[in-house]
Amino acid sequence: MTDRKIRTIGQVYLQCQRSRVACDLEMQKLAEQELLKRGVAVKEILTEEERAEHAYRKTKIVITDEILAQKYLKELKESKEYQVLEQHKAVLKSEESRFLAAAEEIFSDSKIWKFCENVRGLGSVAAMTFFTVLDTEAIMRQNDSRGFNDTRKVITAGKVWKYLGLAPGQRLESGKLGGFNTIMKGRTWMISRNVIMANDPYYAEIYRIEKEFYRNRPDLIAENGYVVRCPGDGHYIATQQTIKGKDDEVYCPICREQVKAVEVVSHKKKPGWKKWIDAMASRWMRKILLSHVTEIIATSEGCEFSKHANYVPPKPLLPGEQELILERFRNERLALLDKYIRQFAETGNAQTIRENMQSYWSK
Ligand SMILES: [Zn+2]
Repeated sequence: MTDRKIRTIGQVYLQCQRSRVACDLEMQKLAEQELLKRGVAVKEILTEEERAEHAYRKTKIVITDEILAQKYLKELKESKEYQVLEQHKAVLKSEESRFLAAAEEIFSDSKIWKFCENVRGLGSVAAMTFFTVLDTEAIMRQNDSRGFNDTRKVITAGKVWKYLGLAPGQRLESGKLGGFNTIMKGRTWMISRNVIMANDPYYAEIYRIEKEFYRNRPDLIAENGYVVRCPGDGHYIATQQTIKGKDDEVYCPICREQVKAVEVVSHKKKPGWKKWIDAMASRWMRKILLSHVTEIIATSEGCEFSKHANYVPPKPLLPGEQELILERFRNERLALLDKYIRQFAETGNAQTIRENMQSYWSK
């Protein structure tokens, strides 16, 4: 097991970082209140998906008069009260970086640190966050995905999700704001976003492959696009293309040609499809990354880590090995997609596909 002492350093560091972030947020809120009061900004309600980007806030501020807003902000920042806060923030910042440097010396020998150095967009703060938060003993104590108490000393992906509040059905409850799950969700969201933005050749590619998979899954398209039938064998085709009526041409993946949509079964194009797909794919990549990180920590601490079906391993050091794994993953996804498209063409029933879908995480 990990040395308590090391994990405690990490915990104290995260608390230290948290108070600096809290100070930042309070100052930001103060500025926003000022702009609202002066009538140069309005409140906008955030959607469920947008909230993660804004530290799970329900609203955001939109400035309506840029010039006046700048003037009022300048006045605020020149006030004595604001400067007291500003100075305090600077102290917290320098404390935090001093602490981080000292902690780095201790953490830098760990396997998880080396893993984070090998992934673009991850760094010392990510390594310490993972190491501190993914408490293997606490994870082992979780019930498994079916709610059974698993007494084996084994770590599974399902237990990790339960522990982090990422299991299906574990929605964020507003009453729990500020709790462990909220902080972890926010942090892991940021961390995985960084990996995508930094375009890590392994994890960003996994994200893109998964996004392409979602983008073409007929059951998902059927819920957010059009379902038509082809003239030949009456194949059901799910498409994102706007169908104005019969005779519009559409590609049938079974007939492998452009065909006339003889029958329009449903059309319910919903807005925000791209964002939705993107959020799903990035959530999936986040789970992969977290399960890899847990695996590395667990195995280095001598715990058993149970691998799931279609296991994708943590990013290996050699680019050649990475490419082989990605190629295999890409082909698996294509084969699965082909299977779903065929199933859908036969029945036109998204629900059947969904029910028979084997979860990636199931064993
Ligand atoms: Zn057809």
